[in-house]
Amino acid sequence: MSAFDAIVVGGGQAGPSLASRMTAKGMKVALVERHLIGGTCVNTGCMPTKALVASAYAAHMARRAADFGVLVDAPVRVDMQAVHARASQVTLNARAGLETWLDGMPGLTRIRGHARFESHDTLRVGDELLTAPRIFLNVGGRAHVPDMPGVGSVEFLINTDILALTTLPEHLVVVGGSYIGLEFAQMFRRFGAQVTVVEMGPRLTPREDEDVAQAIREIIEAEGIAVRTSATCIRLAPHARGVAVGVDCTEGDPEVIGSHVLLAVGRIPNTADLDLDKAGVAMDARGYITVDDQLRTNVPGIWAMGDCNGRGAFTHTAYNDYEIVAANLLDGEDRKVSDRVLGYALYIDPPLGRVGMTETEARRSGRPLLIATRPMTRVNRAVEKAETLGFMKVIVDAETKLMLGASILGTSGDEAIYGILDMMNAKQPWQTLRWAVPIHPTVSELIPTLLLDLKPAS
Ligand SMILES: Cc1cc2nc3c(=O)[nH]c(=O)nc-3n(C[C@H](O)[C@H](O)[C@H](O)COP(=O)(O)OP(=O)(O)OC[C@H]3O[C@@H](n4cnc5c(N)ncnc54)[C@H](O)[C@@H]3O)c2cc1C
Repeated sequence: MSAFDAIVVGGGQAGPSLASRMTAKGMKVALVERHLIGGTCVNTGCMPTKALVASAYAAHMARRAADFGVLVDAPVRVDMQAVHARASQVTLNARAGLETWLDGMPGLTRIRGHARFESHDTLRVGDELLTAPRIFLNVGGRAHVPDMPGVGSVEFLINTDILALTTLPEHLVVVGGSYIGLEFAQMFRRFGAQVTVVEMGPRLTPREDEDVAQAIREIIEAEGIAVRTSATCIRLAPHARGVAVGVDCTEGDPEVIGSHVLLAVGRIPNTADLDLDKAGVAMDARGYITVDDQLRTNVPGIWAMGDCNGRGAFTHTAYNDYEIVAANLLDGEDRKVSDRVLGYALYIDPPLGRVGMTETEARRSGRPLLIATRPMTRVNRAVEKAETLGFMKVIVDAETKLMLGASILGTSGDEAIYGILDMMNAKQPWQTLRWAVPIHPTVSELIPTLLLDLKPAS
């Protein structure tokens, strides 16, 4: 039995940073990782996908070169092996950096293997037993493979598999029209594949407002991606050309034949193989570890951070979980998850930057609202770049004048949203931006102008 001051399970977005803070305080810490340091984001999530999105953007802009007076005389070709190698290198560099950092951390013992609870303060990793009065779970999640008809009879891809492809699928069928699915759909279309997106719900990105979802659909369809919504009973079957995806849509062919099928229908937490019952740690019905506002589980001395607690599904929420736990535990602060202003982005091109409530959520809250929208065609920078798809929308509480949320679907929307995100974090009324002098020409410069257009919601 090896004794530590703390054990961290999972080397994703929260664990390594927490280990660093604890060891800096002189604590003896074990970090257990069963696969790759960096977890999903570095190895099979954000980093490789955004590297691929960059390659896809380059291909897209090369095809559009003539719009800018630049002549590319031969047809644009994409070297999938080079595209793959570039994305892999981005990941490899990041992982190597993390490993060097952890290996040089005084007081840290890295343990490779799968951790399971033996009791509330003891974990087993292979033949080794580890004990500590504090255990931090940062075990993340993985792709959900739904029990849809035929799923066992065909070869399908999940995010980890599609990232390993070095050849171009002839026809990629993406099951799931939300964030991960749409990023892969657009990038593979830009690499040259035929792409169909199949979504069970009546629209893409069901969590976004209807106008945002509709604009996203138009952007996707304008690039030649077929979209099949209201596919109520998706089923898979082997086919001579790959996989037949039964879509049962109210319109169109009842079947789509793809050479490859990507399942992108959500994520599930890695909690079923931790023997949480031996520690008495509670989970909810979907397998997420139940935590309080400070990320403590029901068992004193055990915390859960990141995707496995169901309180966030992003790298930045996992990292913020670490910050909350470290601040409370090591700095005597009183930080809470519920203080978080949630922002995120959808990395299609143009991207969607989001913060706070959607209009639908704000209306449901029953508050009196002020709303303003502006198409990207009325944003100079977008016009100059010939990237005018999308629009911006902001929602304000008419009584408190505080901003409740915003969507910026447009070029640089993932960056421009910070103009609103930071104001929401600072809890400032919208008028604070009235006399700000923005930089011209930027997308962000239109945020004060947008706010001056606020009108009572009908
Ligand atoms: C395709 C894709 C694209 C994404 N793009 C973005 C994006 O652009 N922006 C964004 O914010 N988020 C993005 N995400 C989500 C983001 O990757 C996750 O929210 C983030 O990685 C969660 O971090 P985490 O620390 O909770 O878990 P993870 O990063 O998943 O780390 C968990 C680690 O725990 C290890 N582990 C699990 N169980 C055990 C065990 N029993 N013993 C030992 N080790 C264990 C795992 O091997 C893993 O390394 C994307 C996800 C995917 C799939």
